[in-house]
Amino acid sequence: MLIRENVPISELTTMRLGGKARFVIEISELSDIPEAYKFAAEKKLPTFVLGGGANTIGKDEGFDGVILLNRLKGIEVISETSDEVVIRAMGGEEWDDFVKYTCERGYSGIECLSKIPGTVGAAPVQNIGAYGQDISQVLESVEVYDRETHELIVLGANELKMGYRSTIFNNGPLVGRYFIVAATFVLENEECLEPPFYNSLQKYIDEHNETDFSPANIRKMVSNIRAEKLPDPIHEASAGSFFKNIFIDDGEGAKAKALGIKVWEKADGRKMINSGYLIEGAGLKGARMHGFKVSEKAALILINESAKSYADLDAARSEIRNKVQEKYGFYLEQEPVEIPIGKKKEAS
Ligand SMILES: Cc1cc2nc3c(=O)[nH]c(=O)nc-3n(C[C@H](O)[C@H](O)[C@H](O)COP(=O)(O)OP(=O)(O)OC[C@H]3O[C@@H](n4cnc5c(N)ncnc54)[C@H](O)[C@@H]3O)c2cc1C
Repeated sequence: MLIRENVPISELTTMRLGGKARFVIEISELSDIPEAYKFAAEKKLPTFVLGGGANTIGKDEGFDGVILLNRLKGIEVISETSDEVVIRAMGGEEWDDFVKYTCERGYSGIECLSKIPGTVGAAPVQNIGAYGQDISQVLESVEVYDRETHELIVLGANELKMGYRSTIFNNGPLVGRYFIVAATFVLENEECLEPPFYNSLQKYIDEHNETDFSPANIRKMVSNIRAEKLPDPIHEASAGSFFKNIFIDDGEGAKAKALGIKVWEKADGRKMINSGYLIEGAGLKGARMHGFKVSEKAALILINESAKSYADLDAARSEIRNKVQEKYGFYLEQEPVEIPIGKKKEAS
């Protein structure tokens, strides 16, 4: 079990903000998990689990606690028939390595989720989604370490309350209770997705006269679209979409339509507004503020160009929120999670 001290959170997260974490422990074996929680308990310090840090933001004060970095590796096909394959991946696997593995073998179900940064273990936390797929459609179960009972247990996907960017892991009384060790998915074997596809993917397909909808080729197309539109965390600091899209009721739908905002109807009948559209409509696409830039290609993405401080992020976030609120009357909810600063610092 590798323990490091005073590690900058900015180096562990793709938004590249945040002061030092008192301790960082790399979890590379199952037995490291109880040991790491014991270490934190002995030192009376809080804990925070981190994967790739692609959806997490650190504060300037850092974290007076113990960060557990999930580095558990392994992918295993549990069973395979001509129709479906049950496949398990350890939580510290890179999500995109896992998607690549499945697409290369012709398994369908997560090909549209290609190139999403981060780990397998974090994917269920906010029910990652893109281009018409999200993992609630294929997740069978997760194995978790319960830090209250100190047991490894299996939670079925039906127990996770999976919704748009929301599950029991990031919403409600169980937040912080489980360390996700592994996830098991049921994918289709030798099947291809069928048109019509999600808008931007369909547009790409039409423009490039694509007719091969195999997982490998959908992965190639999604990767091309993303490379064109989204920042690569290696070269540009961001946490992906900074705000969530907004689900609305019929009354708000009527209000949105009156303001000329496009209202999307999801497959489950719920109505949704694209927050990127509101940011663009408020004249902020490509705008620079407090060391950040609203991406000129995808207005939902806030790129950290030169900011070093959480206060800069706070100022940029307020500016965007206020302009959108003034123009449209809708409140933008932040998507990335924030690491608390830890007990001692809160008390001081
Ligand atoms: C450029 C870019 C593009 C993105 N595109 C998308 C997209 O298309 N769709 C999408 O849904 N998201 C997208 N994201 C967000 C991000 O990639 C996902 O949320 C991803 O799942 C984060 O993985 P991570 O390992 O980096 O999570 P982290 O940021 O490390 O953690 C995220 C949250 O999960 C918790 N967590 C992490 N690992 C575990 C674990 N093992 N057990 C329990 N809790 C855990 C953390 O405590 C934290 O609350 C994008 C981000 C970036 C930077």
